[in-house]
Amino acid sequence: MSFLEYAPAPESQAILNLRDSYGLFIDGEFREGHGTPFASISPATEKHIATIAHADASDVDAAVAAARRAYDRTWSRMSGADRGKCLFRIARLVQERSRELAVAESLDNGKPIKESRDVDVPLVAAWFFYYAGWADKLDHVGLGAAPAPLGVAAQVIPWNFPLLMLAWKIAPALAAGNTVVLKPAETTSLTALLFAEIVQQADLPPGVVNIITGAGETGAALVGHGDVDKVAFTGSTSVGRAIARSVAGTNKKLTLELGGKAANIVFDDAPIDQAIEGIVNGIFFNQGHVCCAGSRLLVQESIHDEVIDRLKTRLSTLRLGDPLDKNTDIGAINSAEQLQRIRELSDVGEAEGAERWTAACTIPENGFWYAPTIFTNVSTSHRIAREEIFGPVLSVLTFRTPTEAIAKANNTPYGLSAGIWTDKGSRILAVADKLRAGVVWANTFNRFDPSSPFGGYKESGYGREGGRHGIAAYLKTAAPTVALPSATARKTVSKGATK
Ligand code: NAD
Repeated sequence: MSFLEYAPAPESQAILNLRDSYGLFIDGEFREGHGTPFASISPATEKHIATIAHADASDVDAAVAAARRAYDRTWSRMSGADRGKCLFRIARLVQERSRELAVAESLDNGKPIKESRDVDVPLVAAWFFYYAGWADKLDHVGLGAAPAPLGVAAQVIPWNFPLLMLAWKIAPALAAGNTVVLKPAETTSLTALLFAEIVQQADLPPGVVNIITGAGETGAALVGHGDVDKVAFTGSTSVGRAIARSVAGTNKKLTLELGGKAANIVFDDAPIDQAIEGIVNGIFFNQGHVCCAGSRLLVQESIHDEVIDRLKTRLSTLRLGDPLDKNTDIGAINSAEQLQRIRELSDVGEAEGAERWTAACTIPENGFWYAPTIFTNVSTSHRIAREEIFGPVLSVLTFRTPTEAIAKANNTPYGLSAGIWTDKGSRILAVADKLRAGVVWANTFNRFDPSSPFGGYKESGYGREGGRHGIAAYLKTAAPTVALPSATARKTVSKGATK
């Protein structure tokens, strides 16, 4: 018997009032899709949750047309203050329905209820509150001359933070005056459809928010639609590339938030207890299904053995199981496909010579599960050090000097995030400055705030979400009114330049 035993503490599902089937949310109401409906299942039990409509190209047309009408007739004509009121109403409704949304998210996605309850849903409300505050101030905060919305935004999101990614996309788009058509990932449509109910409750004009469900081809039809002005995508780098190709040569604006392989760097003067918690949070939060996960631990050689020993002890206390149990630390893997990918890459890690250690956990009989795993003796050429595993698997590498740590951290095709653990403020600043990563956390990891821009370098995508950068991505501004030089002066400049 282990030292600490926990009695089961399952969150009740009684608060859910789910329908048997969900249609597409177009022009303010739910309607049938023309594709073949599909099932959403619980990844923890493989039990059916609801039947979800599948949008085909004609449904995509209808959704984009509804968004265009709403843009032309209502939303772009409303004052910023009135748009802000709508967003504040959404934020408050998210708070009112927070328990229900958290239960639905954990049921559909597999993430532990303590994460959906304490992280995902509060951040969703925070995102809407934050951007509600921007809606009436766009002309006064230096965004450029006469900032104006782009039009209709096509938004495609992944399955790891379904409702939160929806908030990251919809809140700034609406605050800026755009209308949206959003497609959630096919394994996690449920909370987007509950959000559609919230849009109805908040009394938004019909067509301002449209939610269409389906798989990759629905997403491709949406981003490729000729009447879309802006494409915002979060997902894998390979799909991001395909979208960049489809958008190239059009006038659509594009932001891409893609994959990552973050280095979490622990120096020998780091506060070790805190660093252990930060490493655990960095890679085992949300089963490691986190684009900015600290999946590469770079630990200074002199403290390697101590860190690994303490990490193993800590991991042995993590509880894997029912996502709806309030004691659960590690929930279910979101899908059979993702589990297969994690297994394959882990096997490659072992075959390439890394040493695998897995926490002793009882794996439930049904559903998709992967026990927390650490690979030591990893080298930078190993696939598990280069490719995104997107699961609860940590690859450990060592370094001797800060220069080596920086070189190893930057030795990746990605550049989304990084972490630094050290006692020295000067070292934090010096190292952070040299890391090619969009977000760098110091003595913490996986912290999110709506006022803080988030995004990547290199194959992690381009554009930023959150903060002022996040709303600027949904606005166009008039050309700056700078006085042009006189004809003579222009000539002189051009002559000088050709000499
Ligand atoms: P994915 O790229 O397979 O799917 C993402 C979304 O794109 C889904 O809704 C999917 O249906 C849709 N899609 C698939 N093919 C498409 C196509 N050809 N055209 C348009 N849409 C298409 O990614 P995933 O497996 O759902 O999510 C995991 C990935 O997302 C990871 O790589 C992760 O790093 C990344 N991610 C990045 C961030 C970030 O902010 N950078 C955040 C979360 C997840």
